[in-house]
Amino acid sequence: MKAVIVAGGRGVRMGPLVNEIPKPMIEIGGIPVIEHQIKNLIECGIKEIIITTNYLGEVIKSYIGNGERFGAEIKYLEEKKPLGTAGGIKGLPTDLKEDFIVIYGDILLSIDFQKFIEFHKKNKAFVSLIVHPSNHPYDSDLVLVDRNNKIKGFKNKPHLPETFYNNLGNAGIYILNPGVLDYISSDEKMDFTKDIFPKLIEDKKDLYAYNTPEYIQDMGTLERLESVRKDFESRKVERFNLKNKRIAIFLDRDGVINYDYGNIHKKENFKLLPGVIEAIKKINSSEYLAIVITNQPVIAKGLCNFEELEEIHKKMETLLGNENAKLDKIYFCPHHPERGFEGEVIELKIKCDCRKPEIGMILNAKSDFNIDLKKSFIIGDSERDILAGFKSGLNPILVKKNVEEFSDIKEVKERFKKCEDLSNAVKFIIEGK
Ligand SMILES: [Zn+2]
Repeated sequence: MKAVIVAGGRGVRMGPLVNEIPKPMIEIGGIPVIEHQIKNLIECGIKEIIITTNYLGEVIKSYIGNGERFGAEIKYLEEKKPLGTAGGIKGLPTDLKEDFIVIYGDILLSIDFQKFIEFHKKNKAFVSLIVHPSNHPYDSDLVLVDRNNKIKGFKNKPHLPETFYNNLGNAGIYILNPGVLDYISSDEKMDFTKDIFPKLIEDKKDLYAYNTPEYIQDMGTLERLESVRKDFESRKVERFNLKNKRIAIFLDRDGVINYDYGNIHKKENFKLLPGVIEAIKKINSSEYLAIVITNQPVIAKGLCNFEELEEIHKKMETLLGNENAKLDKIYFCPHHPERGFEGEVIELKIKCDCRKPEIGMILNAKSDFNIDLKKSFIIGDSERDILAGFKSGLNPILVKKNVEEFSDIKEVKERFKKCEDLSNAVKFIIEGK
């Protein structure tokens, strides 16, 4: 697969830093950001790269050259005038027959591109976008997906108060079918998320969202540049690459994140417990991923459908997002084993391998995020969570005041940590107290 780096932007918000060099030439750790990108692509076996240039394009060209010194083949495509994020690729060679990668030139990243390509192929997608939860979703452009990661639409800022959304921001990295070029006009300024992708969805093309916890940050403002530089120095950029193991805190939902009123099946009944926002923010600023795994038999029982459960999860993500807290992923089990409820959904009334204490959700997360389970935790309020923890090799923590009422499995009883609530459990994990 070939890659295109869109490097024509002016970067007006960067002030005098871009008087003599274009934005992609700004250095991070002594190396221009575009060179970091090229090296990341090459590491993943992507060695044919096209760079689109406009503002001070000569500076890029003379520094990067034809790619020989990197062991790659690099070509250039010059935009005659700035044409937005999409317009610049209109002039790509018409013999481009295969799907190709597009990256914006002002992003510092370290990702496993082959995993992204696998995802794209597995879904037979026309276009795939990399997305990630943002810690400021309220002022970000968001991507709307269904539970199979298929993109339903885009929700650009500003967001109306009192509306709920998935917290998935567009990271600015795509795999495109060459057919996308037909949607781009050659003399108009065009943007992928505003002009091209919504049109593709209208035309019933399949767009998919690939959610990865890897490091991908744009440095479009001086403030962001400074934080990207800090992350690079602390080696966070490299450490978060999926080729490296990550650690995680798995969170049960009802009774840990929100009040458990029993069988929560409408968003009006979803209310965060005190201290949860701060606890999740604490996880977010640590090395741990925050991953929800929740049994939701309300679907099998026919109390709500998948869309209504999604609404509840959107409310959870929005309430957290409004306060700069995020969940890296939510896994749920819609099944339930015993039949005999009025209105139940027969095909979901099965004994599955995802309903805790089974560990299907944990194993999916392990494979999606390359998680080291032995160094990770599960925080739950029921015996099922604790047993799932033991079965999978996670360290379980029980948050419930009265342990006696349910834990009758003697050998397990004394072997796990008990904390009063989520904030105490997170404090114990991260601060050791
Ligand atoms: Zn299940």
